[in-house]
Amino acid sequence: MAHIINTARTKQRSIVITLLNLKNAFGEVRHDLIYEVLDYHHVPNHMKNLICSLYTHFQTSIITEQFNTPIITVGRGVLQGDCLSPLLFNMSFSTFIQQIKSEKYRQLGFWKLSEIGIPIKNHSTSTFNSLWSSVQSKLPKNIFNFTIRYISNTLPTRKNLSLWELSSTSDCSFCSSPETLLHMIAGCKTYLDEGRFTWRHDSVLNFLASTLTAVKNSTLYADIPGFMNPSVITGDRLRPDLLLVTENRCLYILELTVGYESNLQINANRKRQKYRDLINEEEADYDKVKFVNLSLSTLGVFGRSSENFNGMLSSLKCDAKYSKYIKRKS
Ligand SMILES: [Zn+2]
Repeated sequence: MAHIINTARTKQRSIVITLLNLKNAFGEVRHDLIYEVLDYHHVPNHMKNLICSLYTHFQTSIITEQFNTPIITVGRGVLQGDCLSPLLFNMSFSTFIQQIKSEKYRQLGFWKLSEIGIPIKNHSTSTFNSLWSSVQSKLPKNIFNFTIRYISNTLPTRKNLSLWELSSTSDCSFCSSPETLLHMIAGCKTYLDEGRFTWRHDSVLNFLASTLTAVKNSTLYADIPGFMNPSVITGDRLRPDLLLVTENRCLYILELTVGYESNLQINANRKRQKYRDLINEEEADYDKVKFVNLSLSTLGVFGRSSENFNGMLSSLKCDAKYSKYIKRKS
């Protein structure tokens, strides 16, 4: 499978891989299902009778030196080591797949399984989608694999480990809330207190600030060490992440959010609300005040509210190849 993924990656193809892990697969095929399945696939009668004769009145007994068990009727399981068994299993399984694909079951929601993954496109701005995909495909192999497992929600979080019966608990070892992907990425109170989320946020901010200092005849303020602090302009009440005053007296107020994909829009709305008054106040002092709500997901996807970040860069005549993508959390 690694070969398939890598080929798709180098050839820039999209692939969809579904993994099914069946417990005791061969042992679960019911004999009465075999008869049905042979019928369903229009296997000729003489073949059907031959195969059915193998599994009709299938009985066994265990004989040891001390005792014999009574006759046991075996109602399921195809024969181990029989070259016909894989075929019978596949036929039974494909019939099952055909059945649940039918309209009747579709309505019951069998095909809504994809909800466990993250539909990246639903959360990102269309402008940056292709840029994101091309950056993702060039990531080092281990980080690329990480992003794939992140998107399909198959990383070994405690929640998944317990689902796979590899962990006795699904709770976070730090705060004992359920350890889901969202919890790891943006929810754990302990991580928050330890400053891990702040580190991630500030790493991106640091990159942005360092890059934007190159904008000619402008003054930059950023809420991280090494830069003039935005409170110089806004006071201590509200401290945006980054301020940029350009030569034509335009004030950019940039607020950066780094979070979980499905939270991007909620966070963006909250911030817009929070800075509304500040924007109005600053309009008295500058020719133009622009609020830029940059929301990045942990995977480096730009949230929908980030459209005006693109506008900001083009009006600053910035090179669009700012490569701030995967600032991976520790
Ligand atoms: Zn936790």
